[in-house]
Amino acid sequence: MTHTIIQLAYLGAALLFISALRALGHPDTARRGMQFAAFGMAVAVAATLLDARIVSWQWIVAGLIVGTVAGYPLGMHIKMTAMPQRIALSHAFGALAASLVGIGEYAHGLVHGTLTSFQTASLGFEVLFGSLTVTGSLMAFGKLQEILPGRPLLFRGQNWLNLGLIVLAAAALVAEIVTPGHPLVFGSMAVLAALVGVLFVLPIGGADMPVVVSLLNSYAGLAAVATGFALDNTILIVVGALDGLSGFILSMAMSRAMNRSFANVLFGAFGAAPTVDAAAAGGASGEMVATSAEDAALRLAYASRVVMVPGYGLAVSQAQHQIRELGELIEKRGGEVRYAIHPVAGRMPGHMNVLLAEAGVPYDKLIDMEEINEKFADTDISVVVGANDVVNPAARTNAASPIYGMPILKVADSKAVLVLKRGRGTGFSGVENDLFVDPKTSMLFGDARASLAELGSEVKIA
Ligand code: NAP
Repeated sequence: MTHTIIQLAYLGAALLFISALRALGHPDTARRGMQFAAFGMAVAVAATLLDARIVSWQWIVAGLIVGTVAGYPLGMHIKMTAMPQRIALSHAFGALAASLVGIGEYAHGLVHGTLTSFQTASLGFEVLFGSLTVTGSLMAFGKLQEILPGRPLLFRGQNWLNLGLIVLAAAALVAEIVTPGHPLVFGSMAVLAALVGVLFVLPIGGADMPVVVSLLNSYAGLAAVATGFALDNTILIVVGALDGLSGFILSMAMSRAMNRSFANVLFGAFGAAPTVDAAAAGGASGEMVATSAEDAALRLAYASRVVMVPGYGLAVSQAQHQIRELGELIEKRGGEVRYAIHPVAGRMPGHMNVLLAEAGVPYDKLIDMEEINEKFADTDISVVVGANDVVNPAARTNAASPIYGMPILKVADSKAVLVLKRGRGTGFSGVENDLFVDPKTSMLFGDARASLAELGSEVKIA
């Protein structure tokens, strides 16, 4: 009877997780998606606690307390700009849990002489993917948090060394499956996998970390599938498969949106050199024209169609509330305001959606790249707030540019462009931007938050 209840609860949890993934696909329903996922997880945990194999509660309660004390501040107080490293840290913890369960089950089987080849295979995969994900995620966290140098660390023969270590770890796993019960071999496999995790992330630039984090997410999913087989737990198999596949699809989608192959991201190139030869890239040659908040506000106040183009700089300066306020002020004066969303603006997928939604910008004003690109020609003024690569016309016009082929927001088609940034710094790719020296572009230099607030005050009195 209890077994049936547990299985039915797992079925319900699986349906909730699938509904959550679906709901997360759109900003309108994303919050509900998170609630589905959290509720699904609560159902799965509650059902697991009914399992007769649980003989002692005190460690579970202790774990629950530690998890709540650590998880609550991680969820509530981390800044949106620090979200990629927070996610990397969560993956490290998840994978550590899977690895420890794997090692514990292996030790249990060893002591009781019950290890079979099938069980060793499941536990081996679990510990292999788990250890690799723990160290890889910690490296990603270190790079994103700037505890470790964000630049790619390269040395001769790096890829061959990594390949050699992977082959050795796989050989140890096969040996253990063929003749289970050699803890030294099993332990070496775990250590080798952990080393691969470190070496795999070393050559990847800090700004490419979100792709790596989502790939590691899929490895953590595979570790969970293996745990599910080892513990004979269906919900772990289902959740692990969903996690593994969605992480993989997300990594591919991010690489595609940056117009880079998966291999190019993983084996380092872009981001390896912080600056790019401006001549080869057809670097911007004209002069930037600076404007004042007063002049720029006057144009915004009398514009009929305005498109806001947020980018990484908006996230850095936490200017989401100021951009919304400026948009509302322009609307009060009769202008129409929309927000152009590039899929890889910022440093994580959906970064701009999340920030603008947090500030209360209505979802129907957030327009995806394909749709808004048709509207730029009718736009009186586009306001680029801390965006650079995602509006760089070189991606369409200059075959020598490292970002050539990357889909961009066609801001240069608008009648006028106002760019808010601190100085003449390049974006993530290190490529100069012709848009900034276009005769129809004016530059308002300064921190995005301060500039937007100043523009707002000026629009009020314009
Ligand atoms: P970007 O190309 O990185 O440019 C950001 C610009 O913001 C910079 O030029 C910088 O210029 C300005 N800025 C920084 N801090 C600012 C502040 N406080 N106030 C005002 N401006 C500020 O950003 P993007 O156009 O959003 O493009 C994102 C890039 O990241 C793309 O190349 C994309 O491929 C890459 N990427 C994205 C993801 C993702 O999932 N979203 C993942 C990995 C990589 P100043 O220094 O002069 O101010």
